[in-house]
Order: sequence, then C-alpha cells, then structure tokens
Amino acid sequence: MWKRSIDEVKRIRKVIRVDRDTPQVGTLAFGIVDRGTNVIEVRPTTLCPLSCIYCSVNAGPKSTNRWAEFIDDPETLLAALEEVVRFKGTMDIEAHIDGMGEPGVYPYLVNLIRGIKAINGISTVSMQTRLYMFSEDELKELAQAGLDRINLSIDSLNPELARKVSGASWYDVDHIKELVSLALELGINVVASPVWLPGINDNDIVEIIRWATNVGLGKGELPPVLIQKYIPHKRGRKVKVRIMTWQEFWEKIKNLERELGVKLTATNEKLNIHKAPQLPKPYPIGDEVKVKIISRGIIRGEFLGIILPIKDSVIHDRVITVIANPHMESILIENQVKVKIIENSDNIYIGKLI
Ligand code: SF4
Repeated sequence: MWKRSIDEVKRIRKVIRVDRDTPQVGTLAFGIVDRGTNVIEVRPTTLCPLSCIYCSVNAGPKSTNRWAEFIDDPETLLAALEEVVRFKGTMDIEAHIDGMGEPGVYPYLVNLIRGIKAINGISTVSMQTRLYMFSEDELKELAQAGLDRINLSIDSLNPELARKVSGASWYDVDHIKELVSLALELGINVVASPVWLPGINDNDIVEIIRWATNVGLGKGELPPVLIQKYIPHKRGRKVKVRIMTWQEFWEKIKNLERELGVKLTATNEKLNIHKAPQLPKPYPIGDEVKVKIISRGIIRGEFLGIILPIKDSVIHDRVITVIANPHMESILIENQVKVKIIENSDNIYIGKLI
C-alpha cells in the first residue's frame, strides 16, 4: 500500500533525480549535512508515503507546501561522503541516514548502506525510519549490507491511533513490531524515538517504553527509548495540543524513569557524539554570488541552484536554495542569476535574487 502512496506523491509533485554534477552539500533536501560532529547526516530522498499529523518537514501526499521531491544519486552521495569522512580525519564516524522524508523508501538503500559501510573511518551506520516498508527478506539484506542501528519513529502501539497519527489508513503497527523483533535477531540495534503529543499519546508513550524494554531495544549504552518533545515548526504540520516547556518535558521524563525503572536519557558521551572538524563555509552571509538555477527547490517559491564556479570538491562546492516568485520558474531554470546569501548555518545556504 505504501507504494501506491508514493505513486500518489509522484503524480501530484515534480520528482527531481539529483544528477552527478550536483554538489552534495548546501541543502537539507538531499546529500550531506555536517554539523561539526562525528555524526554525518546522509539524506537520500525527500519522498515519504505517510502524512504524520505533526510532520515538521510537511512531507507526504498531504503536504501543503511542497512542489518538488528529490531522489539523490547513490554513487555521487557516497563519493561525497567519503570525502567528508576523510576531511574529518576521525575513525569513529557515524553515518546517520535520515532526511526530509522516509529513507526506507529510497530505491538504492541496500547499495547505499553497503557503500557507506565500506568507507574507511565509518564505524556505525544508523537510519531513522518507520520500518513498515520492509519485508523480512529486505530487512535481512539491510543487515547483511551493514546497518548497525535503527532509530525507530513510532508514536503509538495502538493500531487505530497509530494510523491516525501517521495520516495513513494502511499503516500497520503490528507488522512493525514483528520487524523490530527480526531486526534484533539479525543483530541490528533498535532505539524507539516517539514524539510525545500531550493529550494524544500520553499512555502510548508508557506502553512504548514497556514494550521496548521487554523486547530488548537499546543495547549497550543506549536507552531503549529516546522520547522527542513535540515542537511546532513554522513550515511543518501543526497539531492542536498544549506545548510542553522544556523544563516540564524533562521533569516528566525523569518521573517516567523513576516510575518504570528505565533509563530514558543519554549523554553525548554515551551516544558517542563528539566534536569533529566541520566543513568550511566558503560563502559568508551578505556575499553576492553567481548561481546557476537547476530546478525547483522543495517548497513552493524555492529554487535550487549551484554556486559558481565549481571546483569538483565537497570541501568547496555548494548548492543553494534561492527564494523567488514561483511564476518565474520558466525564466530561472537553466539560467544564471546573481544571489545574495541570507543564511548559511551548518553550510545550508539560502539566498535571495538580487
Ligand atoms: S514525520 Fe517522517 S514519516 Fe511522518 S510524514 Fe514526516 S517525514 Fe514522513
């Protein structure tokens, strides 16, 4: 059923296959995001067949603001990742496959994981996923390819509520529970990461903790469950719930730890996250650059461009999201424009036409 939902997304939105000439750093939509630690985010696709009611990136068939989706080229992504790992110069890199969609639906996932695992310096391959899309054989392939850990997005074990929160009538949480047991048998560690929606899944959070502890999630230093606080995002889908303060959230987590006798937090040290050299930012805010517009960006009114000149290096080359009137599409695409950089945090570039 999820494939039909993906077909629906492809029917209503432009799907852009990222080609080999496109730099892999500069956007949240695909490629690599480096936040200056030993965890490198690897983003293969923006496609997602679900429409979770709280989705911070407004993905899926019910997205209200997307006008394009991206599927990255696996070889280009791997080559870029290898260069970034070499740049960081540390041997305990975690490659974390995630993104503005569901990486589990990426058509080249097995090859991607196999390729990541072969890069010298990468010690862990992890992936954020909802898991429902895999058959048992496919999960075995992922384990053989080298997937070490699944960060499981799961918000309820109640089939009806799980369907409601995921925005998909076919979402089957019982199948996911079976796949989790198989993943553990195959030696893949699993950590559940539910989003706490106050007033909607309070009891479900407790049930998830009990289930996760019983089946053996979170081996080693990792807790079985790492609960996420619901934070409404400007361009994401919003749920009408009372928003917890951070203080209230952490107090509730501590209470749950005491009541259930389960560790629900972990320090960066326990998660093996530490600082590691960050890619240089070649373009400061305020810089005026020449950009070749290559396609739509993910959100309506955004375009994707390559900052010129290209040097054929991940250390230097960047893509940029350019804000412009959507009606200018036919004038902009394939043309060169002048752009002023207005944002560049973590090497994610946003610019405005000059
Ligand atoms: S929260 Fe994740 S699974 Fe749900 S719609 Fe958004 S991207 Fe898809």
